[in-house]
Amino acid sequence: MNYIELHKQFKENSLFGRYITLKHIEPFLVKLPIEIIGKSVLDKPIYRYTIGTGRIKVFMWSQMHGNESTTTKALFDFFNLIHSSSELGQRLLKEFTFCFLPLVNPDGAELYTRENVNNVDLNRDSIDLSQPESQLLRQTFNEFQPDYCFNLHDQRTIFGAGTNGDVATVSFLAPSFNENRDINEVRSKAMQVIVAMNEELQKIIPNQVGRFDDAFNANCIGDQFTLCGVPTILFEAGHYPEDYYREYTRKMIFISLVSGLQHIYEIDIVGDKNANYFEITKNNIVFYDFLYKNVKINYDGKEIITNFAAQYKEELVDGKIQLNAYVCEIGDIKGKFGHYQYNAHKMTYSDSLDNIPKINQKANFFLGKGMKFENGIKN
Ligand SMILES: [Zn+2]
Repeated sequence: MNYIELHKQFKENSLFGRYITLKHIEPFLVKLPIEIIGKSVLDKPIYRYTIGTGRIKVFMWSQMHGNESTTTKALFDFFNLIHSSSELGQRLLKEFTFCFLPLVNPDGAELYTRENVNNVDLNRDSIDLSQPESQLLRQTFNEFQPDYCFNLHDQRTIFGAGTNGDVATVSFLAPSFNENRDINEVRSKAMQVIVAMNEELQKIIPNQVGRFDDAFNANCIGDQFTLCGVPTILFEAGHYPEDYYREYTRKMIFISLVSGLQHIYEIDIVGDKNANYFEITKNNIVFYDFLYKNVKINYDGKEIITNFAAQYKEELVDGKIQLNAYVCEIGDIKGKFGHYQYNAHKMTYSDSLDNIPKINQKANFFLGKGMKFENGIKN
């Protein structure tokens, strides 16, 4: 199957970029037979959409972290597929009954924060269930009694697949259900689906799929649901070169969703591909957005040649996300890579302040005789 073509056909073009809130998705949702299952802390509706007549029940939710919008975009692309008269769309609805919560944390989405408005990370609230959003997610899980759960997230640009400088464009996890990280039938089922999705993705983005750390934390929703006996898959939409709006990654998530589901209905999973799961390269923190090497810095008359790194902060300004680069590390910085990397060849650093890069200072500076870098990038 040509998944790239498939995505092109069903992509919801009116949703794009990083800032996705209820305001952006409600025009689509109101046309669907949705229900409001409850309200967020700030009284915003949380929508549930159920569709399909199949025997396999799949529960998917996105944006429990408010600023992680890539998978929400991919979900709306997926809705276009299953609403179409295409053979695949029809087949998916015949094999599956889907339950979607396409934006679990609407307050966090609006504020563009990971946490909800009470500063609670909803993915660390699975035992206490202290927040209305966590309670609604749990309630939906209990009522729907899924056979599989897809827990949809974004990860930061710092992650690589392995340590060789490949970005982790998509990462997966079949969460543990105990400290030993044992594998039971439940966890194994999640692993098989990940293996299938990885096989498809490797054809398109070789070496750019990561396996997320499987340390057990019952406060995390995926670990909790695995513990409850339901195979749960964590999806992490990550960086792709120069794709800060995550439009390419969105496509990779769509492909993962479709190929993962196809695998579930094609093979009534009994095989043992656990080993293949562990062959997927581990996620590692190896990237900065910007890395400047061999920079000469004058510290009170003492010149040293060193490196420094900068990282974008995603800042919400007047309803738009701005990417603003700030210095985040100075020193050796071994084993790390920059999505944007510049070798200064011992040119001298200067800026409009103290002529020394400092942590949290904006990445606006000069190298050598007037080579200007603005917001991290060479002018
Ligand atoms: Zn997340």
